[in-house]
Amino acid sequence: MSEKTIFQKIFDGEIPAKMAFEDEICGAFYDINPQAPTHILVVPKKLIPSISEMADEDANIVGHLFVVAKQIAQDLKLDGGFRLVINNGVDGQQTVPHLHVHILGGRKMTWPPG
Ligand code: AMP
Repeated sequence: MSEKTIFQKIFDGEIPAKMAFEDEICGAFYDINPQAPTHILVVPKKLIPSISEMADEDANIVGHLFVVAKQIAQDLKLDGGFRLVINNGVDGQQTVPHLHVHILGGRKMTWPPG
């Protein structure tokens, strides 16, 4: 079996993380290197390596990540807005090969992103 991703290790309790939400489909925890006052990652428990590698039948899981992200943003009162980011592949600067949605909030974002 291939090595666990860092996010699987968090789900398995092998690496500590500050959890913001968890259910049977996904977990959300605070990013270790925050790029905004609020920076949370929403991660499926199923190992989907990236958006490019998601299967058609993963659509419900991926959709659920966005439902959870919306709920977290509401609960944390990111009422002025927030940004959801999925980095994909090398050019997308994805560093962890386990799909995740970044929730960034608490400051005004800039566009275009770097
Ligand atoms: P990406 O570059 O889109 O793949 O995002 C990976 C994110 O995972 C980065 O923002 C990292 O700061 C974050 N990260 C890496 N290791 C940990 C960890 N142990 N706990 C929380 N966040 C992490």
